[in-house]
Amino acid sequence: MAVDLHTHSTASDGTETPQAVAELAAAAGLRAFALTDHDTLSGLASAGTAAAAAGIKLVSGVELSVDHDGVKIHMLAYFIEPGPGPLQNELAALRAGRDARNPNIVEKLSEMGFPLTMADVEAQSSGEAVGRPHIAAALVERGYVANNAEAFDRWIGDNGPAYVERARLTAVQAIELTHRSRGVIAIAHPFTIGVEAQPLLNLLGELAAAGLDGLEALHPNHSAQMRARFVDIAASLDIVATGGSDFHGEGKPGISVGSGRGDLDVPDSALEELRDRRGRHH
Ligand code: AMP
Ligand code: ZN
Ligand code: FE
Ligand code: FE
Repeated sequence: MAVDLHTHSTASDGTETPQAVAELAAAAGLRAFALTDHDTLSGLASAGTAAAAAGIKLVSGVELSVDHDGVKIHMLAYFIEPGPGPLQNELAALRAGRDARNPNIVEKLSEMGFPLTMADVEAQSSGEAVGRPHIAAALVERGYVANNAEAFDRWIGDNGPAYVERARLTAVQAIELTHRSRGVIAIAHPFTIGVEAQPLLNLLGELAAAGLDGLEALHPNHSAQMRARFVDIAASLDIVATGGSDFHGEGKPGISVGSGRGDLDVPDSALEELRDRRGRHH
């Protein structure tokens, strides 16, 4: 059987509720799935109820946007339970950083001739982690751009004229906080790290030495060749080769829970190996 270790819901920037994501995961025939919303655990309770009803296991997860020596990386922390805790408490600070940053992007856009308010942005979100995907949706709603891709490409992407940085953890801080919260942590979609091959290997080696547990080798944006290469790299670093669809509902059309674009198949063993790593740390 298969698993999916990377999904998003309306708790952050997905368009399906946590309950609906659980139902889609069960309908896909998965044994387990991880809900990994950005900077929030608020979808996990209702996802867990729906998962139990549908006979599928839920892994409690969260996706973090971190920095390592000026390189931006996404990480997926697993087995992080809602409630107080080292990483859990930090998530509230990260969300506060979003809430401080978002109005600055809105102001820049308004100055550039695209009048927009935070109310427009909040109308695009029903969760607690509000960010650029919701700003993009508000720009589409106002008719300033044709779609989310244009919003990122022209205005709010990492190098765009209306981009404003927000507070981030470093990768090493994320690893330490995750382990203190009795979790394990993997690098998400390494293809997006965007550095040359050797610097990427150096970076992965440094983070493996700092306690990184896994590398998301299987992802819809990775070609078959990249998947094989990242599986090999994970093995060489003695970390777990993980995988997931990065499902966002209509926010990322064409991606299904479990199967991604149709060719994703993440083995049960990936989750078992993460559980083993957790057992070794704790
Ligand atoms: P934020 O965390 O609010 O700064 O927003 C970052 C999120 O925006 C990422 O997690 C992606 O889901 C999305 N994103 C970033 N760059 C792009 C892009 N070029 N096109 C589409 N979505 C993007
Ligand atoms: Zn997202
Ligand atoms: Fe990501
Ligand atoms: Fe994601």
